[in-house]
Amino acid sequence: YADEFMKVNSFTETALISEACKKMLERMQLLDSSRQEFVSNVSHELKTPLTSMKVLADSLNGQEDVPVELYKEFMQDIGEEIDRENKIINDLLSLVKMDKSASDMNIETMNINELLELIMKRLRPIAKKADVELVLESFRPVSAEVDEVKLSLALSNLIENAIKYNNPEGWVHVSLNADYQNFYVKVEDNGIGIPPDSQAHIFERFYRVDKSHSREIGGTGLGLAITRNAVIMHRGAIKVHSIEGEGTTFIVRIPLNYIEG
Ligand code: ADP
Repeated sequence: YADEFMKVNSFTETALISEACKKMLERMQLLDSSRQEFVSNVSHELKTPLTSMKVLADSLNGQEDVPVELYKEFMQDIGEEIDRENKIINDLLSLVKMDKSASDMNIETMNINELLELIMKRLRPIAKKADVELVLESFRPVSAEVDEVKLSLALSNLIENAIKYNNPEGWVHVSLNADYQNFYVKVEDNGIGIPPDSQAHIFERFYRVDKSHSREIGGTGLGLAITRNAVIMHRGAIKVHSIEGEGTTFIVRIPLNYIEG
C-alpha cells in the first residue's frame, strides 16, 4: 500500500499547492485593482478643484471690462478651490506616511490626558464657529507609549468629524478611560448620524456618505482612513456605533505599552 499512499499524498500536496497559488494570485489581483482604484480616485479628487478653477479663470479671461466686484468674487472662489486642493494633498501625504512600515513609529511615553486637552484646545474655535459644545471628561490619569503625531491626527479627525457632522446647538463628548492593558478614547456626538449601509464603508479612502454635503463642509473622505491606519499602527482597534438622525459614537482602544514587531 506504500506506493498507493505516496501517490495519494503527492496528489493531495499538488492540489494544496495549486490551491495556495490560486489564492495568492487572487489576492495579488485584488491588491492591484485596489491600487488602480486608489490612483483613479486620487486623480479624480485632484482634478475637481482644478476644473472649477479653470472654469472660473476662463470666464474672467473671456470677458472685457470685468466689474471689480465680479473679479473679486471669482478670485475668492479660486482661493477656496486652492485651499481644497491643498487639504486633499495634505491628507494624501498623511495617508502615505501612515502606510509605511511600523519602523516609522516614533514611540514616546506620553500623558494622554494632556494630549487630549491640547487637541481640544486646538479644536475649540472650530466648535465655537459651528455652535457645538465640546466637553472632555478624563476618568483617570493615563500614561501610554504612543506616536504623538499619529495619535493626535487620529483623534483630531474623529473630534473634527463629530463637530462637522453635527447641528447647531449640538454637543461632542470626548472621554478617556483605561484598564490594565489599554486606554480608550470615546468620541460621542448628537449629530446627523451615519446610515446603517454606510457604516461598513466609512473607513475606506475617499468614501463619503453624502458627497455634496461633505464637500460643502470641507471633507476629503480621507480622514477616517488616516485614523484607522494610525490606530492599527498602534496595534489598537476602532469601533463605530451610529443611529441616523441621533448621533455617532467612535471608540478607540490602544494598548498602554507599544507592542513591537
Ligand atoms: P471627510 O473628509 O468627508 O469628513 P472622513 O473619512 O473623515 O471624510 O469620513 C468619511 C465620511 O463618514 C464622512 O464624509 C461622513 O459622511 C461620515 N462621518 C464621519 N464621521 C461622522 C460623524 N461623526 N457623524 C456623521 N457622519 C460622519
